Amino acid sequence: MRCAYHPDYHVPLPPSHPFPMAKYPLLFQRLRAAGWLNDAQVLVPDEAALSDLCLVHTGHYLQQLADGTLDAAAVRKIGVPWSQALWRRSRLAAQGTLMAARAALDDGIAGNLAGGTHHAFPAHGEGFCVLNDVAVAIRVLQRDGRARRALVIDLDVHQGNGTAAIFEGDADVFTFSMHGERNYPSRKMHSTLDVGLADGIGDDDYLALLRRHLDDILATFVPEIVFYLAGVDPVRGDRYGRLALSDEGLRQRERCVLEACGSRGWPLVITIAGGYAPTPERTAELHAIVFEEAFRLPLQPRACAAS
Ligand SMILES: [Zn+2]
Repeated sequence: MRCAYHPDYHVPLPPSHPFPMAKYPLLFQRLRAAGWLNDAQVLVPDEAALSDLCLVHTGHYLQQLADGTLDAAAVRKIGVPWSQALWRRSRLAAQGTLMAARAALDDGIAGNLAGGTHHAFPAHGEGFCVLNDVAVAIRVLQRDGRARRALVIDLDVHQGNGTAAIFEGDADVFTFSMHGERNYPSRKMHSTLDVGLADGIGDDDYLALLRRHLDDILATFVPEIVFYLAGVDPVRGDRYGRLALSDEGLRQRERCVLEACGSRGWPLVITIAGGYAPTPERTAELHAIVFEEAFRLPLQPRACAAS
């Protein structure tokens, strides 16, 4: 399995900032040290082309990001201070998801050691999200004729509000979000299927709901590619999550998604989305689980009919 990563996914933030930026290099180093990821498996992205980003985001918003002319309220809503490095980082991560999507169409599965920034809307960012990488990748694949029907499985604890808004009413893109009902964002958008969870839910209830809804979706919608937002913020002890998945419950969740897609031969793109464990090391440990499980799968190269 190939995975996209760039050292500049990491951008220095003030020490007191709540976003665990260190999780990106820590996740990469962890997968490398464990022998899961060798040089040939690493996809190194360039910055996403503006012509691709424009398929989702407005020219005005992209111009403000490029020029550093977002007003103070817009920067506050994103929650991360603007810098040229942040703009570059956002474009690298978007391109990483696109590269992983193309690799998944060729190989059956691929990942980005970032991405899943699902709170980004066409004309603004919020909740630590600047660009909606998954939406951009879907629109690029559609434009290039590589895939039309896409399924987004978003298991980050926060609703994928930006993604839901971008694809609302689009019959070619099924957006599934399972999230804390009382958690951010307070104003939810309309995914194709939203499953709101009560605070404190644990492994058994969570996994039963996931299996039931995944079965329903997979029985009715046949995608050409699946994007998985494997946020680890539903795990017990997360600073923002309010749910109570165990490490083993998380591992079962990842197997459930991997097996559902793998058994049907659907190309799967893994993005990491959110995770706010007490330390960045612990966050990276949790993010590594989906990749560990994916690396264990037998790789089945696909005939690339659409390319
Ligand atoms: Zn989240």
